[in-house]
Amino acid sequence: MKNSNIKKYRKKPIVVEAVRWDGREETYQQLLKRWKTDRVVRIGENNSLFIHTPEGVMEAKVGDFVIRGIKGEIYPCKPDIFKETYEEVGDEIFEWCPSCGKYTYHVRTADNIIRCKECGHGQWY
Ligand SMILES: [Zn+2]
Repeated sequence: MKNSNIKKYRKKPIVVEAVRWDGREETYQQLLKRWKTDRVVRIGENNSLFIHTPEGVMEAKVGDFVIRGIKGEIYPCKPDIFKETYEEVGDEIFEWCPSCGKYTYHVRTADNIIRCKECGHGQWY
């Protein structure tokens, strides 16, 4: 099948930030401060968060994860899906550097820049 248009692809290992919603005011305040967002609203006694996502308002119940994607979009995720899809990374991230043209170690700096340890190339997340 030399000339097949069908090839194999793997998802790029992108890094997102996420927090498990535990229903606590402290966590809510951390989230607002860290992500500088007004799209996550906690209403009244209900311990859910209501999140304005590109697909409309979605609810994060206690125990759900709240994710901020690479374009700044914020959305809820059920814990079972989250665990299947994501694993925690430290401050050092092994990922593709477009400048080096290979996988290298990166560090997360202040202001959420991921910087290549080999060439110093930085990209915003
Ligand atoms: Zn690099």
